[in-house]
Amino acid sequence: HNDIILEYRITRFGAGDRILVARDITRLKQLEQTRQDFVANASHELRTPLTVIRGYLETFLDQELPRPLQRGLSQMESQSKRMENLVSDLLLLSRLEASAHVADELPIPLHSIIYRLQEDGLALGKDKNQTITVDLEAGKTLLGQESEIFSAISNLVFNAVRYTPNEGNIKLRWWTDKKGGHFSVQDNGAGIDSIHLPRLQERFYRVDESRSSDSGGTGLGLAIVKHVMLRHGGRLTINSQPGKGSSFICHFPSDLIIATPAKEHIENE
Ligand code: ADP
Repeated sequence: HNDIILEYRITRFGAGDRILVARDITRLKQLEQTRQDFVANASHELRTPLTVIRGYLETFLDQELPRPLQRGLSQMESQSKRMENLVSDLLLLSRLEASAHVADELPIPLHSIIYRLQEDGLALGKDKNQTITVDLEAGKTLLGQESEIFSAISNLVFNAVRYTPNEGNIKLRWWTDKKGGHFSVQDNGAGIDSIHLPRLQERFYRVDESRSSDSGGTGLGLAIVKHVMLRHGGRLTINSQPGKGSSFICHFPSDLIIATPAKEHIENE
């Protein structure tokens, strides 16, 4: 526990010379750890009381109640549902931050996951009359941690549904090339101004606070995607044009790409 953590940087100095700069970041790392532990503990502790509150609200809402009371209670129920989502995203994020790499990588039924999210996306935007098309390379899938990959992909699909207006088009694609595997979600929705792009993957960073929180998200979606990608040795890139739409691309390194095992192949036929 007396270890010192140093960060090294090599800087150019004059013509061709280099200097090695070492910085003691022990205190910084300790503070970061304290922050992570606090968030993990706080979200864990908030879970139980929230479950109890929601349980009671559901029971009350099952009964005949005067209208104002009914309205108040259903507001309370939907807000406590929102709080529950927030708490579970905070917990997930603190678990993702706790270690830099996924522990065991297994073949992921990527095609099935994407088809399922196509249906879930259409259900989420059922009043918007959007189309969600799917274009998947056959025979190739991904090694990784399934629940994390599911969280990442679902956040991107649900964002596209939420930030794309009625009649919009959303495209889900999976392909491989010599650099690795790529999953993209492209929409023709509101788009994002380029000044926001560098900060978009930070926790709680939102382009338009009121519109985003109305849309039902937790503000943690893209931070979750970012950490899932880092833990798989990949990254998330975002391209967007205001008024035209956005594309979010998950890039996975080539050592995680495999030929689809027979079982998933059969499931997809
Ligand atoms: P939120 O819960 O607010 O959606 P996210 O981390 O998932 O949190 O996204 C951060 C912000 O990025 C959103 O508030 C929104 O402003 C913007 N955003 C995300 N996806 C899209 C998209 N497909 N089109 C336009 N803006 C988007």
